[in-house]
Amino acid sequence: MTDTRDQFALIGAGPMGLAMAKVLKEQGIAFQGFELHSDVGGLWDIDGPKSTMYDTAHLISSKRMTEFDDFPMKDDTAEYPSHRELKGYFKDFAKAFDLYEQYRFNTEVTRVQPLGGPGDGWQVCWRDADGDHEAEFAGVMIANGTLSEPNMPAFPGQFDGELIHSSQYRSPNQFDGKRVLIVGAGNSGCDIAVDAIHHGTSCDLSMRRGYYFVPKYVFGKPADTLGGAIKLPMWLKRKVDGLILSWFVGNPQKYGFPKPDYALYESHPVVNSLVLYHAGHGDLKIRADIERIDGKTVHFKDGAHSDYDMILAATGYKLHYPFIDRDLLNWQGDAPHLYLNAMHPDRDDLFVLGMVEASGLGWQGRHEQAEMVARYIKGLQNEAPSAKELQQTKAAGFHRATGGMNYVKLARMAYYVDKATYRKAVTDWIRKLSAGAKA
Ligand SMILES: Cc1cc2nc3c(=O)[nH]c(=O)nc-3n(C[C@H](O)[C@H](O)[C@H](O)COP(=O)(O)OP(=O)(O)OC[C@H]3O[C@@H](n4cnc5c(N)ncnc54)[C@H](O)[C@@H]3O)c2cc1C
Repeated sequence: MTDTRDQFALIGAGPMGLAMAKVLKEQGIAFQGFELHSDVGGLWDIDGPKSTMYDTAHLISSKRMTEFDDFPMKDDTAEYPSHRELKGYFKDFAKAFDLYEQYRFNTEVTRVQPLGGPGDGWQVCWRDADGDHEAEFAGVMIANGTLSEPNMPAFPGQFDGELIHSSQYRSPNQFDGKRVLIVGAGNSGCDIAVDAIHHGTSCDLSMRRGYYFVPKYVFGKPADTLGGAIKLPMWLKRKVDGLILSWFVGNPQKYGFPKPDYALYESHPVVNSLVLYHAGHGDLKIRADIERIDGKTVHFKDGAHSDYDMILAATGYKLHYPFIDRDLLNWQGDAPHLYLNAMHPDRDDLFVLGMVEASGLGWQGRHEQAEMVARYIKGLQNEAPSAKELQQTKAAGFHRATGGMNYVKLARMAYYVDKATYRKAVTDWIRKLSAGAKA
């Protein structure tokens, strides 16, 4: 067996793990990848054991705004590709950069723990078809995804129908012949509601708070491709984008959607205009928050009630790192507090990748995060002053890269960043670390 003590253990071969593997290879940093599934692609492979994908899912950001810069999607790939096309894209990416050979597949990392203080190495335990194994590694990189551990609310009362979380939703035929209530109107909830409208006998959508709805197309172009070249201050961007939304989406409140009690971009927008279309056709009824459930009857907080055969909770996911002690990740509230969402303040042998969300960050934003980490490790190995500077910066204390945005206080917003602020900070470090490497 090869000596692993100089290697990093990289957990996950989703888009983030693959980006990390690619830049580690480019920087000549030794690592061993571990992937629970038999193939790459993370949650975009619907057959993956941790995948929360569903048959009808497509990207909600457009392909050119989401792809890796140095690995564009093919011209004949749809503007908003399906998960099937994306699975192929990630397989091609892994082949193009020779990443398959870097991974042990069908292998679950079950435990990682430091052997001493920072720099003393880590014990990594994993399980595969041959049983349990362990080895010592130089460090650990966690890219196990953020959308696999369901956040399932406890509804007051007893429901006598079928209750599932969106992570258990795969195919629209699960709705056949059912009166469906979707709870939660985030991107998945709205996507899935459209399936339920077409396949169930009825569909209602229970919402606790209002959302801003963004259409996929504006002036015939993917909405996220507009306005990219001109960087506007947030107050002006809100005015301009708010005006465009009012032209294209109108006023969702006229269909019963609650009015958001926060400003545009203070929460993740919902990229879906079909729910508005169907609400306008009377095929989707908007309901208030659930008060209690009694048999098949759901009572809502506005006094209304209705009967359902199925409740689908599209209530999101929790960050989940079951293989590492909580204390080691510097949790603050609902998320680990890490420099630029990736780097431990005091350790240079522990990184969390992909624990970052922003409107339109795409896989290139994640690739940049990986490149910053790899260049930092390389810089430390070469004793580059820029790496020393980064080390001191992260040890001195820091705030999340929110760009001064006052995000709504929700668990899923605990690791949200402002895309422009975040990418600037990360690419500034990449520039400094690259310049240091050449000096
Ligand atoms: C329906 C849907 C639509 C989306 N649309 C978009 C979009 O339009 N644009 C966008 O940018 N993002 C979108 N996302 C977000 C998505 O999370 C990211 O695109 C991306 O998949 C995140 O990659 P990742 O590698 O961090 O995580 P994942 O894709 O979740 O990959 C994590 C990998 O780690 C493996 N793993 C986990 N635990 C272990 C372990 N203990 N040992 C070994 N391996 C392990 C898993 O098997 C998995 O392969 C969407 C997500 C969903 C669910």
